[in-house]
Amino acid sequence: MKNRTRNTALAAILLPSLACTPASTPDDQIDLIVDGQTIVTMDADGTIIENGAVAVDDGIIIAIGSRDDIHTQYSAAEVLDGTDRIVMPGLVNGHSHAAMTLLRGIADDLALMDWLNNYIFPAEVEFVDAEFVRIGTELACWEMIRGGTTTFVDMYYYPDTIAEVVAECGMRAMISSTVIDQRSPDAENAADAIRKGSDYIKRWKGRNSRITPIFGPHANYTLSAEQLQATRQAAIELGVPISIHMSESLFELQYSKDTFGMTSINMFESIGFFDGPTIAAHVVWPTEAEIKILAERKVGVIHNPTSNMKIASGISPVTDMLAAGVRVGLGTDGAASNNDLDMWEEMRLASFLQKVEQMNPEVLSANTVLRMATIDGATAIGLGDSIGSLEVGKRADIIQVGFDDVHHVPTYDVVSHLVYVTDEQDVDSVIVDGKILMRDGQLLTIDTERVATEARALAAEIQIALDERNR
Ligand SMILES: [Zn+2]
Repeated sequence: MKNRTRNTALAAILLPSLACTPASTPDDQIDLIVDGQTIVTMDADGTIIENGAVAVDDGIIIAIGSRDDIHTQYSAAEVLDGTDRIVMPGLVNGHSHAAMTLLRGIADDLALMDWLNNYIFPAEVEFVDAEFVRIGTELACWEMIRGGTTTFVDMYYYPDTIAEVVAECGMRAMISSTVIDQRSPDAENAADAIRKGSDYIKRWKGRNSRITPIFGPHANYTLSAEQLQATRQAAIELGVPISIHMSESLFELQYSKDTFGMTSINMFESIGFFDGPTIAAHVVWPTEAEIKILAERKVGVIHNPTSNMKIASGISPVTDMLAAGVRVGLGTDGAASNNDLDMWEEMRLASFLQKVEQMNPEVLSANTVLRMATIDGATAIGLGDSIGSLEVGKRADIIQVGFDDVHHVPTYDVVSHLVYVTDEQDVDSVIVDGKILMRDGQLLTIDTERVATEARALAAEIQIALDERNR
């Protein structure tokens, strides 16, 4: 690409004056132009541009404006047609256990602790190895790309393998090394997990700009206060955030009171756990005082409505947290407790759950949940400066959503449709860091046929072992 440096440097200057200085340097050669019937930027002003385009070069958004202006100004190696398509930032899935796609449907309709202790943990110890994680993560990345998710925060085992899959398929991810005080698929106990996690983080920090290695201590009912502090200490020393389950269930609430003499968030605050960046998944049972702590300590809360409903964990006080200034994003949790990785469904359920709980249809509007799935989620996980909205200078994580399906005809309000109508199958194209991962519904970076074959073969082995165990 010629003029690459100049284009990027000029971008910030060009955008505001684009309309009044036509074609000052015509035919600037850039990597990509993404056209859209409507561009939903998710910037602070909620800017929406009809008949727009986004210019991308070297992985960065260098201009956003009307289609005519962008095409007059730039000539791109590749142009994605925008007919009947909405262009918006990629979705941010703030909490997942990607490889659990392979355990999808293995045990349903159970309480959290029954489900974890009697099904998930034993199945994981028996079946989960690096190969399982590779196939399961590829399956998850396939599903997430297909559904328009461009960034996810993962917590599972064999983080090197997860990172290799993410590096290969082109997504963006924060990948936790799980710390849990029991024998797990990749560690003997908490101390071993912290040691191995530290080595993993050293291997991956700064290695790939799309991958952030982090620690994932499981929860305060699977780790002691000392182990949680040791994990935080290691994270501070390595300069990485932490992702953790927090205040998820009534079981956890009671356990925390019995064991530590206080509720979970108070307990975490009392041990200095929030001294470094924290991504807290669930947060279903915070007290009013604890919500203040979350806001003051800038904890990123990830709301997982489907998982909370399916496991009957409860209803998170999302509107109270937002009113208190807590940063709240959305997540799917693992596919074994959801049972899919569909962020569109997550948006809908987040909104509906608050409305019915408060018997007030005005709470958690479409615009608010769309922000939670994009810019606010990005901010909650600490990436709000580089992703989550379409703005000049940000990384080019962009999706095109087809609006030609019957359920989008007619459309009065694009944001309403994106939240209350759109589903995974409507997503046409997905771009991460300026690279196209899916074009017109075709996955470009994952051999889906191979992954499906491998997943089915592995599931058949798991089924045989399960049948033998239950005999
Ligand atoms: Zn989880």
